[in-house]
Amino acid sequence: MGKVYLVGAEPGDVELLTLKALRLIRSADVIIYDRLINPEILTFAKPECELMYVGKEEGYHTLEQEKINKLLLEYAQKRDVVVRLKGGDLFVFGRGGEEMLFLAEHGIEVEAIPGVSSAIGVPTFAGIPLTFRGISSSFAVITGHEDPRKGRSSINWECLKGIDTLVFLMGVSRRQLIAQRLLEVGRDPKEPVAFIERGTTFEERFVVCTSEGLAKEPPDVKPPAVMVVGKVVELRKNIKDKALASLTI
Ligand code: SAH
Repeated sequence: MGKVYLVGAEPGDVELLTLKALRLIRSADVIIYDRLINPEILTFAKPECELMYVGKEEGYHTLEQEKINKLLLEYAQKRDVVVRLKGGDLFVFGRGGEEMLFLAEHGIEVEAIPGVSSAIGVPTFAGIPLTFRGISSSFAVITGHEDPRKGRSSINWECLKGIDTLVFLMGVSRRQLIAQRLLEVGRDPKEPVAFIERGTTFEERFVVCTSEGLAKEPPDVKPPAVMVVGKVVELRKNIKDKALASLTI
């Protein structure tokens, strides 16, 4: 029986990978990886390591997750070091929790390794502090995948009124509906909203508007993007020469 490491990778830039993740990637017998992984990471694997892509588009079906769970189980039964690599942090909308429970239920040794989540890492790299003394004492990370119009939302929208900074992941296609919902619960219409597309990569793009503007006429934004709502957006300093990595190490 092998061991499965559920490893959080990076939000885009290879150098944001942790040393622990790098060590596990180097020692893996098989790496089962997702869509948002920077492929450069895979060059650190040993030559005989088996690489398996199981990427899913947003809105994937549960059946696919079941297949991935079974695949992890099969590999754990025949290989020593199984690395399940996920973009950002494995427990932030990464379904890492489900995989951990499934493997544990089947008697497989499993370990969770944190990664730099896009929810925090992307705003930071773009120069937006999620908390700031006197401006923001709280932030929340929310899925933007859910339809804000659906009858029974699992998001407590009323509660979001009381949180200073909101970070939406997977929210690009529903950005206009999200803004409308935030205005309905009484957030400030003039509050700034930032979208950071492909954060921490050479293709990073920054778009800023207000909640009101977004609710009326959403600007052009392409996924993957992190959406940040709150006054902290105004603190942003445009860092021009970023310490981005192009394959090194
Ligand atoms: N577990 C991941 C999130 C998975 S959900 C993490 O912790 O980062 C996928 C969403 O993450 C995307 O829809 C987008 O909102 C965000 N995302 C991931 N990588 C990104 C990047 N480089 N730039 C902007 N957003 C990103």
